[in-house]
Amino acid sequence: MNSAFIPYGRQCIDEDDIQAVINVLRSDYLTQGPVVPAFEQAVADYCGVPYSVAVNSATSALHIACLALGVGPGDWVWTSPITFVASANCGRYCGASVDFVDIDPVTLNMCPERLAEKLALASCSGRLPKVIIPVHMTGQPCDMSAIAELARSYNVRVVEDASHAIGSSYRGVKTGGCKFSDITVFSFHPVKIITTCEGGLATTRSAELARRMRLLRSHGITREKSELGNPDEGAWYYEQKELGFNYRLTDVQAALGLAQMRHLDEWVERRHRLADRYDDALVDLPLILPARTSESRQSLHLYVIQLDEARTNHSRRDVFDQLRQAEIGVNVHYIPVHTQPDFQRLGFRDGDFPVSEAYYARCISLPMYVMLSDKEQDRVIASVQEALA
Ligand SMILES: *Cc1c(COP(=O)(O)O)cnc(C)c1O
Repeated sequence: MNSAFIPYGRQCIDEDDIQAVINVLRSDYLTQGPVVPAFEQAVADYCGVPYSVAVNSATSALHIACLALGVGPGDWVWTSPITFVASANCGRYCGASVDFVDIDPVTLNMCPERLAEKLALASCSGRLPKVIIPVHMTGQPCDMSAIAELARSYNVRVVEDASHAIGSSYRGVKTGGCKFSDITVFSFHPVKIITTCEGGLATTRSAELARRMRLLRSHGITREKSELGNPDEGAWYYEQKELGFNYRLTDVQAALGLAQMRHLDEWVERRHRLADRYDDALVDLPLILPARTSESRQSLHLYVIQLDEARTNHSRRDVFDQLRQAEIGVNVHYIPVHTQPDFQRLGFRDGDFPVSEAYYARCISLPMYVMLSDKEQDRVIASVQEALA
Protein backbone atom coordinates (compact mmCIF):
# COMPACT_ATOMS: atom_id res chain seq x y z
CA MET A 1 0.00 0.00 0.00
CA ASN A 2 1.34 3.42 -0.96
CA SER A 3 1.94 5.43 2.22
CA ALA A 4 0.02 8.36 0.76
CA PHE A 5 -3.04 6.18 0.21
CA ILE A 6 -5.78 6.68 2.80
CA PRO A 7 -8.10 3.63 2.95
CA TYR A 8 -11.81 3.87 3.83
CA GLY A 9 -11.32 1.71 6.90
CA ARG A 10 -8.63 -0.19 8.72
CA GLN A 11 -7.85 -1.90 12.00
CA CYS A 12 -6.19 -0.37 15.05
CA ILE A 13 -3.79 -2.67 16.91
CA ASP A 14 -1.58 -1.63 19.82
CA GLU A 15 1.29 -3.39 21.62
CA ASP A 16 -1.05 -4.78 24.31
CA ASP A 17 -3.20 -6.38 21.60
CA ILE A 18 -0.10 -7.96 20.06
CA GLN A 19 1.12 -9.20 23.44
CA ALA A 20 -2.27 -10.80 24.12
CA VAL A 21 -1.97 -12.75 20.86
CA ILE A 22 1.63 -13.79 21.62
CA ASN A 23 0.57 -15.03 25.05
CA VAL A 24 -1.89 -17.44 23.44
CA LEU A 25 0.72 -18.59 20.90
CA ARG A 26 2.94 -19.57 23.86
CA SER A 27 0.08 -21.30 25.72
CA ASP A 28 -1.30 -24.85 25.58
CA TYR A 29 -4.31 -24.13 23.39
CA LEU A 30 -4.42 -22.34 20.05
CA THR A 31 -8.09 -23.20 19.64
CA GLN A 32 -10.89 -24.51 21.88
CA GLY A 33 -9.04 -23.25 24.97
CA PRO A 34 -10.08 -20.72 27.63
CA VAL A 35 -9.84 -17.49 25.61
CA VAL A 36 -12.88 -17.94 23.32
CA PRO A 37 -15.23 -18.28 26.36
CA ALA A 38 -13.51 -15.27 27.97
CA PHE A 39 -14.08 -13.20 24.82
CA GLU A 40 -17.69 -14.38 24.62
CA GLN A 41 -18.21 -13.37 28.26
CA ALA A 42 -16.66 -9.92 27.67
CA VAL A 43 -18.97 -9.20 24.73
CA ALA A 44 -22.02 -10.57 26.58
CA ASP A 45 -21.23 -8.42 29.63
CA TYR A 46 -20.74 -5.33 27.45
CA CYS A 47 -24.07 -5.90 25.67
CA GLY A 48 -25.94 -6.91 28.82
CA VAL A 49 -27.07 -10.23 27.37
CA PRO A 50 -26.84 -13.71 28.92
CA TYR A 51 -25.51 -15.73 25.97
CA SER A 52 -22.96 -15.19 23.23
CA VAL A 53 -21.48 -17.61 20.69
CA ALA A 54 -18.24 -16.67 18.89
CA VAL A 55 -17.64 -18.02 15.39
CA ASN A 56 -15.18 -17.58 12.53
CA SER A 57 -17.18 -14.86 10.70
CA ALA A 58 -20.40 -12.88 10.81
CA THR A 59 -21.43 -14.82 7.72
CA SER A 60 -21.18 -18.06 9.73
CA ALA A 61 -23.05 -16.44 12.63
CA LEU A 62 -25.89 -15.38 10.31
CA HIS A 63 -26.04 -18.91 8.88
CA ILE A 64 -26.29 -20.70 12.24
CA ALA A 65 -28.64 -18.00 13.57
CA CYS A 66 -31.06 -18.80 10.73
CA LEU A 67 -30.66 -22.56 11.26
CA ALA A 68 -31.18 -22.25 15.01
CA LEU A 69 -34.44 -20.39 14.30
CA GLY A 70 -35.55 -23.27 12.09
CA VAL A 71 -35.12 -21.68 8.66
CA GLY A 72 -35.26 -24.31 5.90
CA PRO A 73 -36.55 -25.04 2.41
CA GLY A 74 -39.94 -23.42 1.77
CA ASP A 75 -39.26 -20.59 4.23
CA TRP A 76 -38.66 -16.92 3.45
CA VAL A 77 -36.00 -14.65 4.90
CA TRP A 78 -36.22 -10.88 4.38
CA THR A 79 -33.44 -8.35 4.72
CA SER A 80 -32.39 -4.93 3.42
CA PRO A 81 -31.08 -4.44 -0.15
CA ILE A 82 -28.46 -2.02 1.24
CA THR A 83 -26.16 -4.47 2.94
CA PHE A 84 -23.32 -6.85 2.28
CA VAL A 85 -24.48 -9.94 0.36
CA ALA A 86 -23.96 -12.16 3.43
CA SER A 87 -27.14 -10.80 5.08
CA ALA A 88 -29.17 -12.35 2.26
CA ASN A 89 -27.03 -15.40 1.50
CA CYS A 90 -27.53 -16.86 4.99
CA GLY A 91 -31.16 -17.61 4.12
CA ARG A 92 -30.13 -19.24 0.86
CA TYR A 93 -27.57 -21.45 2.66
CA CYS A 94 -30.55 -22.88 4.60
CA GLY A 95 -32.47 -23.59 1.40
CA ALA A 96 -34.90 -20.71 2.04
CA SER A 97 -35.98 -18.02 -0.41
CA VAL A 98 -34.86 -14.45 0.12
CA ASP A 99 -36.70 -11.15 -0.35
CA PHE A 100 -35.99 -7.55 0.55
CA VAL A 101 -37.67 -4.58 2.23
CA ASP A 102 -36.70 -1.16 0.87
CA ILE A 103 -34.81 1.31 3.06
CA ASP A 104 -35.70 4.57 4.73
CA PRO A 105 -33.83 7.28 2.78
CA VAL A 106 -32.65 9.07 5.95
CA THR A 107 -31.49 6.21 8.19
CA LEU A 108 -30.54 3.90 5.26
CA ASN A 109 -32.11 1.07 7.31
CA MET A 110 -35.04 -1.24 6.59
CA CYS A 111 -38.10 1.04 6.50
CA PRO A 112 -40.75 0.02 9.09
CA GLU A 113 -43.60 1.38 6.90
CA ARG A 114 -42.45 -0.67 3.87
CA LEU A 115 -42.07 -3.66 6.21
CA ALA A 116 -45.63 -3.23 7.53
CA GLU A 117 -47.03 -3.07 3.98
CA LYS A 118 -45.06 -6.07 2.83
CA LEU A 119 -46.00 -8.16 5.88
CA ALA A 120 -49.69 -7.36 5.35
CA LEU A 121 -49.46 -8.52 1.72
CA ALA A 122 -47.44 -11.62 2.59
CA SER A 123 -49.92 -12.51 5.31
CA CYS A 124 -52.76 -12.50 2.74
CA SER A 125 -50.81 -14.72 0.33
CA GLY A 126 -49.51 -17.08 3.01
CA ARG A 127 -45.89 -16.16 2.36
CA LEU A 128 -44.85 -14.58 5.63
CA PRO A 129 -41.11 -14.75 6.30
CA LYS A 130 -39.81 -16.97 9.08
CA VAL A 131 -37.02 -14.52 9.84
CA ILE A 132 -36.35 -10.86 9.06
CA ILE A 133 -32.80 -9.52 9.22
CA PRO A 134 -32.68 -5.75 9.72
CA VAL A 135 -29.18 -4.35 9.16
CA HIS A 136 -27.82 -1.50 11.29
CA MET A 137 -26.32 0.30 8.31
CA THR A 138 -23.13 2.26 9.15
CA GLY A 139 -23.79 1.37 12.81
CA GLN A 140 -27.03 3.40 12.96
CA PRO A 141 -29.52 1.23 14.90
CA CYS A 142 -32.70 0.38 13.02
CA ASP A 143 -36.09 1.41 14.40
CA MET A 144 -36.09 -1.83 16.41
CA SER A 145 -39.13 -1.01 18.49
CA ALA A 146 -41.33 -0.72 15.38
CA ILE A 147 -39.74 -3.76 13.75
CA ALA A 148 -40.12 -5.88 16.90
CA GLU A 149 -43.78 -4.91 17.23
CA LEU A 150 -44.50 -5.92 13.62
CA ALA A 151 -42.53 -9.15 14.06
CA ARG A 152 -44.51 -10.00 17.19
CA SER A 153 -47.87 -9.41 15.55
CA TYR A 154 -47.00 -11.60 12.54
CA ASN A 155 -45.07 -14.20 14.58
CA VAL A 156 -41.82 -13.59 12.69
CA ARG A 157 -38.36 -14.04 14.25
CA VAL A 158 -35.77 -11.23 14.12
CA VAL A 159 -31.99 -11.45 13.63
CA GLU A 160 -30.18 -8.10 13.84
CA ASP A 161 -27.23 -7.89 11.45
CA ALA A 162 -25.11 -5.65 13.67
CA SER A 163 -21.90 -6.27 11.72
CA HIS A 164 -21.35 -2.48 11.70
CA ALA A 165 -22.80 -1.78 15.06
CA ILE A 166 -20.93 -3.11 18.11
CA GLY A 167 -20.69 -0.20 20.52
CA SER A 168 -23.91 1.44 19.33
CA SER A 169 -27.04 1.78 21.44
CA TYR A 170 -30.75 2.30 20.86
CA ARG A 171 -32.98 3.96 23.47
CA GLY A 172 -30.22 3.51 26.02
CA VAL A 173 -29.83 -0.25 25.33
CA LYS A 174 -26.58 -1.54 23.84
CA THR A 175 -26.95 -3.21 20.44
CA GLY A 176 -26.53 -6.93 21.10
CA GLY A 177 -28.78 -6.80 24.15
CA CYS A 178 -31.47 -8.53 22.05
CA LYS A 179 -34.27 -6.60 23.71
CA PHE A 180 -36.01 -6.33 20.31
CA SER A 181 -34.74 -9.47 18.57
CA ASP A 182 -34.03 -13.17 18.94
CA ILE A 183 -30.37 -13.00 17.92
CA THR A 184 -27.85 -10.23 17.15
CA VAL A 185 -24.79 -10.81 14.96
CA PHE A 186 -21.49 -8.89 15.02
CA SER A 187 -18.56 -8.97 12.56
CA PHE A 188 -14.91 -8.61 13.53
CA HIS A 189 -13.45 -8.23 10.03
CA PRO A 190 -10.53 -5.74 10.12
CA VAL A 191 -12.54 -2.84 8.67
CA LYS A 192 -15.26 -3.18 11.34
CA ILE A 193 -15.28 -1.51 14.78
CA ILE A 194 -13.13 -4.14 16.55
CA THR A 195 -11.34 -7.05 14.91
CA THR A 196 -10.31 -10.69 15.35
CA CYS A 197 -8.85 -10.76 11.76
CA GLU A 198 -11.83 -12.85 10.65
CA GLY A 199 -14.56 -13.51 13.17
CA GLY A 200 -18.12 -13.01 14.24
CA LEU A 201 -20.38 -13.51 17.21
CA ALA A 202 -24.06 -14.07 17.93
CA THR A 203 -25.79 -12.88 21.11
CA THR A 204 -29.17 -14.06 22.40
CA ARG A 205 -31.35 -14.08 25.51
CA SER A 206 -32.45 -17.66 24.74
CA ALA A 207 -30.53 -20.55 26.33
CA GLU A 208 -31.99 -22.89 23.71
CA LEU A 209 -30.89 -20.76 20.73
CA ALA A 210 -27.40 -20.44 22.26
CA ARG A 211 -27.23 -24.23 22.74
CA ARG A 212 -28.23 -24.87 19.14
CA MET A 213 -25.77 -22.32 17.75
CA ARG A 214 -22.93 -23.87 19.84
CA LEU A 215 -23.83 -27.27 18.43
CA LEU A 216 -23.96 -26.01 14.85
CA ARG A 217 -20.62 -24.17 15.05
CA SER A 218 -18.80 -27.44 15.78
CA HIS A 219 -20.12 -30.23 13.52
CA GLY A 220 -23.37 -30.68 15.47
CA ILE A 221 -21.29 -32.53 18.08
CA THR A 222 -21.84 -32.43 21.83
CA ARG A 223 -19.94 -33.91 24.78
CA GLU A 224 -22.41 -32.58 27.38
CA LYS A 225 -23.40 -35.60 29.48
CA SER A 226 -26.95 -34.36 29.93
CA GLU A 227 -27.41 -34.24 26.14
CA LEU A 228 -26.02 -37.70 25.31
CA GLY A 229 -28.25 -40.65 24.41
CA ASN A 230 -25.57 -43.02 25.76
CA PRO A 231 -24.13 -41.05 28.69
CA ASP A 232 -22.24 -44.09 30.13
CA GLU A 233 -20.36 -45.10 26.96
CA GLY A 234 -17.02 -43.71 28.17
CA ALA A 235 -14.92 -40.59 28.68
CA TRP A 236 -14.01 -40.44 24.96
CA TYR A 237 -17.61 -40.37 23.87
CA TYR A 238 -19.41 -37.66 21.90
CA GLU A 239 -22.51 -37.60 19.73
CA GLN A 240 -23.28 -35.79 16.48
CA LYS A 241 -26.86 -34.60 17.00
CA GLU A 242 -27.37 -32.90 13.64
CA LEU A 243 -25.38 -31.76 10.61
CA GLY A 244 -23.15 -28.88 11.74
CA PHE A 245 -20.04 -27.09 10.55
CA ASN A 246 -16.55 -26.10 11.61
CA TYR A 247 -17.32 -22.43 12.27
CA ARG A 248 -15.11 -22.14 15.36
CA LEU A 249 -13.09 -19.04 16.26
CA THR A 250 -9.51 -19.73 17.45
CA ASP A 251 -8.13 -18.72 20.84
CA VAL A 252 -5.49 -16.66 19.02
CA GLN A 253 -8.23 -14.60 17.36
CA ALA A 254 -10.31 -14.40 20.54
CA ALA A 255 -7.27 -12.98 22.40
CA LEU A 256 -7.12 -10.15 19.89
CA GLY A 257 -10.87 -9.59 20.21
CA LEU A 258 -10.73 -9.58 24.01
CA ALA A 259 -7.90 -7.03 23.96
CA GLN A 260 -9.78 -4.89 21.42
CA MET A 261 -12.94 -4.81 23.59
CA ARG A 262 -11.06 -2.62 26.11
CA HIS A 263 -10.92 0.15 23.49
CA LEU A 264 -14.48 -0.09 22.21
CA ASP A 265 -16.13 2.93 23.86
CA GLU A 266 -13.09 5.15 23.30
CA TRP A 267 -13.01 4.15 19.63
CA VAL A 268 -16.69 4.89 19.05
CA GLU A 269 -16.06 8.28 20.65
CA ARG A 270 -13.13 8.92 18.26
CA ARG A 271 -15.37 8.01 15.31
CA HIS A 272 -17.91 10.60 16.48
CA ARG A 273 -15.20 13.27 16.70
CA LEU A 274 -14.11 12.42 13.14
CA ALA A 275 -17.73 12.59 12.00
CA ASP A 276 -18.11 15.98 13.71
CA ARG A 277 -15.10 17.27 11.76
CA TYR A 278 -16.49 15.95 8.48
CA ASP A 279 -19.93 17.43 9.28
CA ASP A 280 -18.45 20.87 9.97
CA ALA A 281 -16.17 20.90 6.93
CA LEU A 282 -18.66 19.54 4.39
CA VAL A 283 -21.88 21.22 5.47
CA ASP A 284 -21.88 23.84 2.69
CA LEU A 285 -21.17 21.41 -0.15
CA PRO A 286 -23.97 19.94 -2.31
CA LEU A 287 -24.00 16.78 -0.20
CA ILE A 288 -26.41 14.89 2.02
CA LEU A 289 -24.47 14.15 5.20
CA PRO A 290 -25.09 11.15 7.49
CA ALA A 291 -28.02 11.37 9.91
CA ARG A 292 -27.36 10.90 13.60
CA THR A 293 -30.68 10.45 15.42
CA SER A 294 -31.24 11.46 19.04
CA GLU A 295 -32.93 8.13 19.77
CA SER A 296 -29.72 6.19 19.30
CA ARG A 297 -25.98 6.51 19.40
CA GLN A 298 -24.47 4.94 16.34
CA SER A 299 -21.04 3.35 16.13
CA LEU A 300 -20.11 5.08 12.83
CA HIS A 301 -18.50 2.13 11.09
CA LEU A 302 -18.94 4.17 7.90
CA TYR A 303 -19.27 7.86 7.05
CA VAL A 304 -21.36 7.93 3.87
CA ILE A 305 -21.91 11.12 1.90
CA GLN A 306 -24.51 11.37 -0.86
CA LEU A 307 -24.31 13.76 -3.80
CA ASP A 308 -27.33 16.05 -3.68
CA GLU A 309 -28.39 15.85 -7.33
CA ALA A 310 -30.59 18.95 -6.97
CA ARG A 311 -27.53 21.06 -6.14
CA THR A 312 -24.71 19.65 -8.27
CA ASN A 313 -24.00 18.48 -11.80
CA HIS A 314 -21.07 16.34 -10.70
CA SER A 315 -21.75 12.65 -11.10
CA ARG A 316 -20.95 10.16 -8.38
CA ARG A 317 -18.67 8.35 -10.79
CA ASP A 318 -16.77 11.55 -11.50
CA VAL A 319 -16.34 12.51 -7.84
CA PHE A 320 -15.40 8.94 -6.89
CA ASP A 321 -12.76 8.70 -9.62
CA GLN A 322 -11.27 12.07 -8.69
CA LEU A 323 -10.98 11.02 -5.03
CA ARG A 324 -9.34 7.72 -5.95
CA GLN A 325 -6.92 9.65 -8.16
CA ALA A 326 -6.05 11.75 -5.11
CA GLU A 327 -5.27 8.44 -3.34
CA ILE A 328 -8.30 8.64 -1.10
CA GLY A 329 -9.61 5.08 -0.70
CA VAL A 330 -13.27 5.96 -1.03
CA ASN A 331 -15.72 3.09 -1.47
CA VAL A 332 -19.40 2.42 -2.16
CA HIS A 333 -21.59 0.71 0.47
CA TYR A 334 -23.48 -0.99 -1.00
CA ILE A 335 -24.42 -2.12 -4.46
CA PRO A 336 -28.06 -3.15 -3.75
CA VAL A 337 -27.96 -6.91 -3.24
CA HIS A 338 -30.97 -7.59 -5.49
CA THR A 339 -29.06 -6.09 -8.47
CA GLN A 340 -26.24 -8.64 -8.19
CA PRO A 341 -26.24 -11.10 -11.13
CA ASP A 342 -26.73 -14.07 -8.81
CA PHE A 343 -29.90 -12.43 -7.41
CA GLN A 344 -31.16 -11.28 -10.83
CA ARG A 345 -30.95 -14.94 -11.77
CA LEU A 346 -33.51 -15.55 -8.98
CA GLY A 347 -35.89 -13.08 -10.62
CA PHE A 348 -35.06 -9.73 -9.00
CA ARG A 349 -34.98 -6.72 -11.34
CA ASP A 350 -33.61 -3.19 -11.34
CA GLY A 351 -36.42 -0.99 -10.07
CA ASP A 352 -37.67 -3.48 -7.46
CA PHE A 353 -36.39 -1.36 -4.53
CA PRO A 354 -36.24 2.23 -5.80
CA VAL A 355 -35.18 3.99 -2.59
CA SER A 356 -32.19 1.67 -2.24
CA GLU A 357 -31.28 2.12 -5.91
CA ALA A 358 -31.52 5.92 -5.70
CA TYR A 359 -29.32 5.92 -2.59
CA TYR A 360 -26.78 3.65 -4.33
CA ALA A 361 -26.51 6.08 -7.25
CA ARG A 362 -25.45 8.92 -4.91
CA CYS A 363 -23.36 7.35 -2.14
CA ILE A 364 -19.63 7.48 -1.40
CA SER A 365 -18.01 6.19 1.81
CA LEU A 366 -15.26 8.49 3.05
CA PRO A 367 -12.33 7.22 5.14
CA MET A 368 -13.46 6.55 8.72
CA TYR A 369 -11.26 4.68 11.18
CA VAL A 370 -9.75 5.29 14.58
CA MET A 371 -6.17 5.85 13.36
CA LEU A 372 -7.20 8.40 10.71
CA SER A 373 -5.31 11.51 11.84
CA ASP A 374 -6.79 15.00 11.72
CA LYS A 375 -4.15 15.84 9.11
CA GLU A 376 -5.11 12.91 6.91
CA GLN A 377 -8.76 13.79 7.36
CA ASP A 378 -8.01 17.36 6.29
CA ARG A 379 -6.53 15.94 3.08
CA VAL A 380 -9.71 13.94 2.50
CA ILE A 381 -11.83 17.05 3.10
CA ALA A 382 -9.72 19.16 0.72
CA SER A 383 -9.99 16.49 -1.95
CA VAL A 384 -13.79 16.33 -1.59
CA GLN A 385 -14.01 20.13 -1.83
CA GLU A 386 -11.84 20.08 -4.94
CA ALA A 387 -13.81 17.27 -6.56
CA LEU A 388 -17.05 19.21 -6.08
CA ALA A 389 -15.64 22.62 -7.08
C1 LIG B 1 -19.01 -7.37 7.02
C2 LIG B 1 -20.45 -7.70 6.97
C3 LIG B 1 -20.95 -9.01 6.97
C4 LIG B 1 -20.04 -10.20 6.89
O1 LIG B 1 -19.11 -10.22 7.89
P1 LIG B 1 -17.92 -11.30 7.85
O2 LIG B 1 -17.43 -11.29 9.27
O3 LIG B 1 -16.92 -10.78 6.87
O4 LIG B 1 -18.49 -12.60 7.45
C5 LIG B 1 -22.31 -9.21 7.01
N1 LIG B 1 -23.16 -8.18 7.02
C6 LIG B 1 -22.73 -6.91 6.98
C7 LIG B 1 -23.74 -5.80 7.00
C8 LIG B 1 -21.37 -6.63 6.93
O5 LIG B 1 -20.95 -5.36 6.86
